[in-house]
Amino acid sequence: MTAPSAPITQDVLTIPRRTPEGDGKRNLVGLTRDQLRDVLIETGTPEKQAKMRVGQIWQWIYQKGVRDFDAMTNLAKAYRAQLEEHFVIAVPEVVQRHVSEDGTRKYLVRIAGGHEVETVYIPEDGRGTLCISSQVGCTLTCSFCHTGTQKLVRNLTPAEIVGQIMIARDDLGEWPELGRAPKDETRLLSNIVLMGMGEPLYNFEAVRDAMKIAMDGEGISLSRRRITLSTSGVVPEIARTAEEIGCMLAISFHATTDEVRDRLVPINKRWNIAELLEALKAYPKLSNSERITFEYVMLKDVNDTDEDARRLVKLIRGIPAKINLIPFNEWPGSPYQRSDWKRIKAFADIIYKAGYASPIRTPRGEDIMAACGQLKSATERARKSRAQIEAETRAG
Ligand code: SAH
Ligand code: SF4
Repeated sequence: MTAPSAPITQDVLTIPRRTPEGDGKRNLVGLTRDQLRDVLIETGTPEKQAKMRVGQIWQWIYQKGVRDFDAMTNLAKAYRAQLEEHFVIAVPEVVQRHVSEDGTRKYLVRIAGGHEVETVYIPEDGRGTLCISSQVGCTLTCSFCHTGTQKLVRNLTPAEIVGQIMIARDDLGEWPELGRAPKDETRLLSNIVLMGMGEPLYNFEAVRDAMKIAMDGEGISLSRRRITLSTSGVVPEIARTAEEIGCMLAISFHATTDEVRDRLVPINKRWNIAELLEALKAYPKLSNSERITFEYVMLKDVNDTDEDARRLVKLIRGIPAKINLIPFNEWPGSPYQRSDWKRIKAFADIIYKAGYASPIRTPRGEDIMAACGQLKSATERARKSRAQIEAETRAG
């Protein structure tokens, strides 16, 4: 294992590693155990051996980080050749890697079709959180979110979602020896948040399958308590998240009246605050998790008054909760400003006095545009800046 390297400001590395496109071969990454079993049987693995083979291959891929069948030394040579003939073990390609002054790492990840998403690793006290994307762009249009200005291009596949964890582990040099899963406390990549690009609950099955793989005890083996899924409030999928994934839940709440939330998080017009809270009340019990995180972005003169803080506390009464205050991360052309520090503190204070934890999220990786809500594909950003340049040229 290597510790994150010394901070390099604005370091942009173009990594020339090519991912095998597969030549029509099937990628084993991202398949559930049942799917893996099926494809092995389809390609000639005797049914009686299938379960054992699934276990062996699974461990090589997810516990040891092996991408080459030839390295699977507990499989017979002929069987390895058979696997090679039909399958690949492929993760998305990292086309750029930026390291922030504060050690935050941002990966620009290219997926099939030439699309790009971003994945961010945030180190903290020898551990770290990986922020992963679930879609290219987003169908929703939250007015403060950079991703929201980009149309949905497509959903990520389970392979592309779990692949983001695998490439971060590659970069951190964190593949443990077989049979020796690291303890959560000693991992560099110890937590996952689905807070990158996209609305995870609009890509439910793929997110579920990828998180099941991340939680599988014979592989990446992250506890469900160390995985947090953030949603803008897709109410019908919330109970399903508890039942089928069982991870921690974060809600992009951001406002205390329907009038303001309609403007900030337009999905509120479909499922309003009352309906959302109703679904949330059932979550802790259904998922056996302690608390729900309410994310609240602090926007100057929009949602940051003392009255808002008091209303917020009243609304969530009865729900085991933590309120995460996010100072707004500005992006070029963003229509809002970050609330003043004094205002954020006063807001936090009211919540704290009402008995809730109210941490203020420290913006990380701002110098490399890696902070929450700033993610957007590089191509899209480039397109935008070209458009801006043209507009400026015309104006000049
Ligand atoms: N689509 C999901 C997850 C991705 S966004 C969701 O909306 O929850 C992750 C978090 O970042 C959300 O709480 C989102 O509201 C917040 N966010 C988006 N843009 C932001 C910005 N510019 N500054 C601060 N937080 C932002
Ligand atoms: Fe999509 Fe989340 Fe951004 Fe809203 S905040 S536009 S749901 S990514």
